Amino acid sequence: MIATNIQKINQEIGLNTRLIAVSKTKPVEAILEAYQAGQRIFGENKVQEMVDKYQHLPKDIQWHMIGHLQSNKVKYMASFVSLIHGVDSLKLLEVINKEGAKNNRKIPCLLQIYIAKEETKFGLDPSELFELLNSEAFKNMQHIVICGLMGMASNTDNMQQVRQEFAQLKALFDKVKNQYFINDPHFKELSMGMSGDYQIAIEEGATLVRIGSAIFGSR
Ligand SMILES: *Cc1c(COP(=O)(O)O)cnc(C)c1O
Repeated sequence: MIATNIQKINQEIGLNTRLIAVSKTKPVEAILEAYQAGQRIFGENKVQEMVDKYQHLPKDIQWHMIGHLQSNKVKYMASFVSLIHGVDSLKLLEVINKEGAKNNRKIPCLLQIYIAKEETKFGLDPSELFELLNSEAFKNMQHIVICGLMGMASNTDNMQQVRQEFAQLKALFDKVKNQYFINDPHFKELSMGMSGDYQIAIEEGATLVRIGSAIFGSR
């Protein structure tokens, strides 16, 4: 079942978008099933759970942290995390940079943008984003790589609204790319779209989709 779902989604999303299999709350057996179907990128939203799974699973898995992240947890995954999607403050970025230095690596990050019309979601608004990008502290960071932007659309049946939120994020991505990263090949990822809205996200320019329940079943 898991293998079939992955195959089907991969065919649907095409070659320009990569699938992140969101395995939060799912056991290592389920992840192994996906791994055997060829899946190598997995997304988790809790650091401890990701560390446990990292220790028990093949080492060529790329682990993406997709959840809201507390600064004091960064150190547990700094040595192996492939991409941190939810960076939503300069303070958090400073901690990631420090942990990157300790581990002698540059940690890939996405800046999370607040696009939903919901109070409960995390992320920077555009003015906070530009403030971060313009800060001296940011410019001096040597142990992070900004690979793009991430966002979550509103949890609504109104697909016009979801499309509009994704389009807004894509426009912001293009603007930031042109103003800050025009010569930086690392800044190329737009992480948006989940089980309920990934088709729309791809139409609006997603390069990474984060899909859980459509692969592993409901949580
Ligand atoms: C859980 C989660 C997903 C996946 O959600 P599904 O609806 O199960 O596909 C994607 N992104 C984030 C940030 C998540 O926390």
